[in-house]
Amino acid sequence: MAYLSKEDPELKQLIRDEADRLNNTLNLIAAENHSPQSILETMGSVLNTKTIEGYPGKRFHAGCENVDRIENLAIKRGKSLFNAEHINVQPHSGTSANLAVYFSVLNIGDHILAMSLPHGGHLSHGHSASITSRCFNFTHYKLDSKTEQIDYDQIRDLALSVKPKMIVAGASSYPRLINYEKISQIAKEASALFLTDMAHLAGLVAAKLIQSPVPYCDFVTFTCYKTMMGGRGGVILSKKKYGKKIDKAVFPGCQGTSAVNLLAAKALIFKLAKEEKFISIQKSTLKNAKVMARAFMEKGYRIVSNGTDNHQVLIDLTSKNITGKLAETCLESIGIILNRNVIPNDANNSGKVSGLRIGSGAVSSRGMGDSQMRQIVDFMDIAIMNHSKKEILVKLKEKVLKLCEAFPIKKTV
Ligand SMILES: *Cc1c(COP(=O)(O)O)cnc(C)c1O
Repeated sequence: MAYLSKEDPELKQLIRDEADRLNNTLNLIAAENHSPQSILETMGSVLNTKTIEGYPGKRFHAGCENVDRIENLAIKRGKSLFNAEHINVQPHSGTSANLAVYFSVLNIGDHILAMSLPHGGHLSHGHSASITSRCFNFTHYKLDSKTEQIDYDQIRDLALSVKPKMIVAGASSYPRLINYEKISQIAKEASALFLTDMAHLAGLVAAKLIQSPVPYCDFVTFTCYKTMMGGRGGVILSKKKYGKKIDKAVFPGCQGTSAVNLLAAKALIFKLAKEEKFISIQKSTLKNAKVMARAFMEKGYRIVSNGTDNHQVLIDLTSKNITGKLAETCLESIGIILNRNVIPNDANNSGKVSGLRIGSGAVSSRGMGDSQMRQIVDFMDIAIMNHSKKEILVKLKEKVLKLCEAFPIKKTV
């Protein structure tokens, strides 16, 4: 970053500080991951210059021969990786991808059935704070209160009574697999379209370690920076018959020019995702989440739904006499970075919530395995049980740092 050093040493230092923070802490945020260095190079390349509107071969500015090839490469690789009939690689984010899907086939005021946010759903699935709830009429399904898993009978009952035009599956915080086939049958019975938002799961699906929603859905959306490890930006996969509508809804419907640097990063991650290195990171992501869930349960923690089938573990702190908020702050002080999370039927409605959500993606892409996971759970348990004992926390922080130093992230500055 020689130029930045010269022109803005203050900003350069802030970026370096962030690189140090990433290197010196354990990232358990389920929505994050460390991208390969080549992704960072691509995103920071000269591709930021070009203005493109429209689609390859049908642009509104001259000079698109190279970026057309880049977008076509992303399209070809993405369709092949996910076995999709149609793909749009232009959405700026997962949220924009969802917006474009809604607007491609629905009218303002149409009914949509999606998962409730306090039960794991996402803001863009009709939460009251999201513009999606002002455009469409959402009904939300909840989890079964005993199993804390999706209640397919409830989805069916709601689908048959509300008669939504679209059913949305997919979640931000749901450690279990989703039975896409079952929901697709419900959607057929209710004459609803079926969208799955696999934002969190795309990397695991790409590596073919968990079931792909693609064969069962009219639309599948995801964002590239979570388990997918591909930098920023969203993607829409769809059945061929919706391709034109999707493309129109993305541009000019919801967006203007698209970010060519991100299109290129998508092309790159779709290539890397077929390689052994990516697949083995995803394998270890799945395994590491299971190891952490088991280790917490052995220490007497209640894990929402009693386990995990993906990269997430949701810990219920209710019996530990500490809020999610306090646990998050305490763990941050020892270098373990995660987020407090609402759990299904959370009894703490002060905003401090009762849960912690952890994800195994970033620590796995750093090369950590079973024994590091058990170590991390030990650190977390000791910190949570001794959250007001400074001297214990200081010692833990040193141990976390040592572990981080043994698994460095590639230099980013
Ligand atoms: C993270 C997430 C998104 C949002 O993606 P952005 O790229 O941040 O807009 C959408 N849906 C779900 C289920 C998510 O978890």
